[in-house]
Amino acid sequence: MILILLEKEELSPIGQFIYFSVIIFLVALIVIFILYKLFNFFEMAYVEYFNKKLFYNHKYIKKKKLPKDQKSILRQYINFYNRLSSKHKSYFEHRVKQFIKTTEFIGKDITVTDEMKVVTAATLVKLTFGLRDYNISLVERVIFYPEAFYSTTNKTYHKGEFNLGYKALVFSWKDVKHGYEIEDDNLNLAIHEFIHAIHFYYMSVRKRSTSAAIFLNSYYELTEDLDKDSKLKKELITSDYVREYAFTNQYEFLAVFVETFIETPHEFRTQFPTIYTKIKTMLNFNFSGY
Ligand SMILES: [Zn+2]
Repeated sequence: MILILLEKEELSPIGQFIYFSVIIFLVALIVIFILYKLFNFFEMAYVEYFNKKLFYNHKYIKKKKLPKDQKSILRQYINFYNRLSSKHKSYFEHRVKQFIKTTEFIGKDITVTDEMKVVTAATLVKLTFGLRDYNISLVERVIFYPEAFYSTTNKTYHKGEFNLGYKALVFSWKDVKHGYEIEDDNLNLAIHEFIHAIHFYYMSVRKRSTSAAIFLNSYYELTEDLDKDSKLKKELITSDYVREYAFTNQYEFLAVFVETFIETPHEFRTQFPTIYTKIKTMLNFNFSGY
């Protein structure tokens, strides 16, 4: 209405310039919004009905770089990163930097170091590297304790937890490090807790995130397959390969299976090839070693 009134009045050249600039800007915004919605619609339809693949994964307007000392922490802890191509390494670093920038790190009886920030950020980035949606908004802060801490949630000592209400991941730093020191025992605290956070986050954005659709649809298919195949289910439960804690509930099932998948992929593929393939699809994990 205001724009129409303005048009009727005689505008100075500067006034006309501002008027048309505003109109062009608004039209451009509407076009971008419609294109974005269309893109999302087609990608979601493709993921749901044709193939669990994204149209693209890594595209960044301005890639951020990590300082040298933080990169050396990545090299020291994250073998997954070491095996990436230099192009993928730069994407990995960008995502690590983004997570560190947007997350609050709190130390309880411990000083937060770069090592703590980089290792936790890299854990999330590794798990979501095959997907586009890595901005897990349900994790606003990461809290570190030097070792196992008393949790008021269920009044016991914990090594780690995902606190949905407080949007926090809580870790015993000693146990996070331990998870990375021994790489093939199918135990990694940071991976385990991050999977809980990713799982809850993806459930909350399932309708609009194609990454969430790939992750949750594959997980749903995995549980359905197991329900149909009682022999395989029995084999899983009785095998010593997957630890018993996986069968506590659906959340622990997912967290323990991904932990196992990440730590010993070759053994997983040999022992349970169909389940291995489902988890690989779920994370879109087409990387060296998997
Ligand atoms: Zn758990």
